[in-house]
Amino acid sequence: MYPFACLFFTPEVTKQAERMSLTPQELARYQRQMLINGWGKEGQEKLKAATVLIAGAGGLGSPAAIFLAAAGVGTLRMCDLSQIYPTNLNRQILYRDAHITRNKVDVAGEMLTTLNPHTRVEPVRDAITTENISDLAESATIILDCLDNFTTRHILNRYAITKSIPLIYAGVENMEGLVCFINPPETPCLQCIFPEDLPGKKFFPIAGAASGFIGTLQACEALKWITGIGDTLAGKLLMWDGTTMQCETIEIKKNPDCPACG
Ligand SMILES: [Zn+2]
Repeated sequence: MYPFACLFFTPEVTKQAERMSLTPQELARYQRQMLINGWGKEGQEKLKAATVLIAGAGGLGSPAAIFLAAAGVGTLRMCDLSQIYPTNLNRQILYRDAHITRNKVDVAGEMLTTLNPHTRVEPVRDAITTENISDLAESATIILDCLDNFTTRHILNRYAITKSIPLIYAGVENMEGLVCFINPPETPCLQCIFPEDLPGKKFFPIAGAASGFIGTLQACEALKWITGIGDTLAGKLLMWDGTTMQCETIEIKKNPDCPACG
């Protein structure tokens, strides 16, 4: 169990209600987004009550976390094992030159708290494994896959299927990206889309604006689902090519023989 696990089971209804009701400062802060049709105070309270697990605090996790914190998500749990290197800084916009060699999640916690002190950030410096995923994702409203390898992605996918927690997949390389909203049994799962693991690459070309765009789309999907507005990419795969600015959304189908969800 992680030290914050005790926070998940606060039984007092009063405390829960206090957490969800918005202070005057919060009402002022979120005024512009609460004007969005269907969002309102109720949607904002849902955001405050939500816990989002962000798996990976890199090129996708940085913009996703920034926009979710700015929007007032109550709890952001950031999970990443790595430290900050100079080569991260073209795209991992949570970090600055002075942060090099520090742990990503520690810096992410500081930066996001500075951005929005109303958001509680739970930094978890760990790799995601089959052993710790249930502790990591305990009480999560939604999971963001901001990872760079399919082995760990499939751990998230299987857990999301078992617990019926939505998972927002994204991948990015060069100036191209993919986004999909996975919510079995209503939608195909990650393994339906990618039956075979794509090989992981340690160094691949990537533009910061591309990971920024795709990570921001993940945040949009999470905000829509939590507040209940609009339509998500459930059952669809968004494919964006930044070199031509072509964006296509295709229907994806369940694989009845999928080893994960079939
Ligand atoms: Zn599947």
